Amino acid sequence: MIEGKRLLVVSAHAADYVWRSGGTIAHYLKHGAQVKVVCLSVGVRGESNDLWKQPGQTAEKVAEIRTGESEKAAALLGIQDIEFWGLQDYPMTLGMQEQERLLRIIRSFRPDIILTHDRNDVLNPDHNHVHEFVWQTAIMSNSSGVETDGFKATKQMRLYGFEPHQTELSGFVPGSFIDITDVYEQKVAAMQCFQAQKHLIKYYTDRASLRGNHARRISGDASIEYAESFANFFPVVDTEFH
Ligand SMILES: [Zn+2]
Repeated sequence: MIEGKRLLVVSAHAADYVWRSGGTIAHYLKHGAQVKVVCLSVGVRGESNDLWKQPGQTAEKVAEIRTGESEKAAALLGIQDIEFWGLQDYPMTLGMQEQERLLRIIRSFRPDIILTHDRNDVLNPDHNHVHEFVWQTAIMSNSSGVETDGFKATKQMRLYGFEPHQTELSGFVPGSFIDITDVYEQKVAAMQCFQAQKHLIKYYTDRASLRGNHARRISGDASIEYAESFANFFPVVDTEFH
């Protein structure tokens, strides 16, 4: 049951949450969830190559364009709650100050689910740092001994990892598939906002179709056309098998 669920998405760069979980976010919003997205960096240095080919380009202009694209994509997915921290990327430094900030978000928003980068991405060191950062902060948030003024400790929420770009090289194994067929056109429209990474649009439409095929085969549900896959940080605990 999605209605009433609280989903927190932590994205290293401006477009990661769209490529890797845009369909899931739109699907959750469509079915009554509350979604909050945190973009740690807009990816000026590491994920804006096409923009840097323009003569006279500056970091300020690239940041402005990327933030604008991300805001537009978020609106197309139905996201109303998104924040941009504006950290430098390549390399990204995540220290105590950032950890305290995320801890406050986790303890005030109190997510049932957190989506973020999985533990290994061979092509992007920022993604690995963000995985470690979010995982560590989410676990710390459950501990009453870690004090944050005005906020109580959380209970263990579910954590899921984005599928990295080079799936096999990064050792990624899908643990969950989310059917995004009902919001697929929204995801495509959101992906088209990112003009500096046009090559990824076809890649991620193909990926949605491939994962849709796998999800259909595994579930026996013939209505699934498109899906996104995620790694499960923790096993499912229940009183019965599903
Ligand atoms: Zn990224």
